[in-house]
Amino acid sequence: MNIDFSKSNGLVPAIIQHTLTGQVLMLGYMNEEALEKTKAEGKVTFFSRSKNRLWTKGETSGNYLIVDEILTDCDGDTLLIKVYPQGPTCHTGSTSCFKEESSKGFLYKLERTIEQRIASDAENSYTNALFKKGVNKVAQKVGEEAVELVIEAKDNNIDLFKNEAADLLYHFLILLKTKNLKLTDIEEVLQGRSK
Ligand code: AMP
Ligand code: ZN
Ligand code: ZN
Ligand code: ZN
Repeated sequence: MNIDFSKSNGLVPAIIQHTLTGQVLMLGYMNEEALEKTKAEGKVTFFSRSKNRLWTKGETSGNYLIVDEILTDCDGDTLLIKVYPQGPTCHTGSTSCFKEESSKGFLYKLERTIEQRIASDAENSYTNALFKKGVNKVAQKVGEEAVELVIEAKDNNIDLFKNEAADLLYHFLILLKTKNLKLTDIEEVLQGRSK
């Protein structure tokens, strides 16, 4: 659907969403020129109502929003733009201008819980204790859980299989953390392969 800018006084709202996590990052307005520039450059440019000019998000911070997909709503008066953000989107340094957490699901929540346990050096936390033993120990645990999963795969007990799969995912997240990587970093690799 094409956007009819005349219908909305020349400005339409553009919802900016992270392609990989589904998190809503910010909302801005675009006029026709901003949308054209966004399409031409592959970076999000808004019409800033406060600056009263075209504003390429990231123009001073370097935190550009790299365009993945531009979608319009059912009646062509709103944009939904999926992006790969090159840094925090909010000028406060937060990932998103909205405080809501990433909406992609439980694994991302678990990833944040793991981060918090480690950042706060939580006592009585298995996660933190394992992390502090270092990358080799964590990697060894991942290996053990993988082997346990393989063993359960040969068996017919689906509950045991599910439990070992969960163990593997959980320890895998801690291993990523020892390399300072996030789940989205791995998703980007996978996504890149399917292009
Ligand atoms: P940037 O476009 O990231 O280089 O930021 C330039 C300026 O735009 C900042 O100093 C803020 O005034 C403003 N700004 C940046 N990001 C946002 C945002 N997500 N929402 C509203 N204003 C922003
Ligand atoms: Zn609409
Ligand atoms: Zn903000
Ligand atoms: Zn296990």
